[in-house]
Amino acid sequence: MTATNHALTGASIGLIMGDAAMAVAIAFLSHYVLDALPHFGSNSNDQDWIKSKKFKTMLIADALLCLVLVAVMVILQPHNWFLACLCAFMAASPDLFWLNRFIRVHLKKPWQPSLLSRFASFIQWFQRPIGVVVEITWAAAAIIVISNVIK
Ligand SMILES: [Zn+2]
Repeated sequence: MTATNHALTGASIGLIMGDAAMAVAIAFLSHYVLDALPHFGSNSNDQDWIKSKKFKTMLIADALLCLVLVAVMVILQPHNWFLACLCAFMAASPDLFWLNRFIRVHLKKPWQPSLLSRFASFIQWFQRPIGVVVEITWAAAAIIVISNVIK
């Protein structure tokens, strides 16, 4: 899923759960649960998609939306806001493991998937453009949850 949806989910977990250690662990695990749901992805081959301008634009937009979420938490400071930011980061963090691949593809160097990245690819069984419907629905639901918790 998009980093934004991972972050929104993590933030919801942080805002709702009182126990920090538990919230951080669940936020991290939520990444894999969300990635197992059908979600947005490209039809084209991975290497071409990663090098595409569209992918990079999406990556930047996604990162900016995560920053907007953190900014909202910092400005409004609802109960557990710091935990929400931490959990947002933890929920999105497993995708940082893909950074190595992103760099190697751009340097035209071979990339050997680690056991973890093989697992991450395996659970993402459905990544297609139509998955945007799931992404938007999930984001809307998470925003509703967050706005109800912080009001
Ligand atoms: Zn992921």
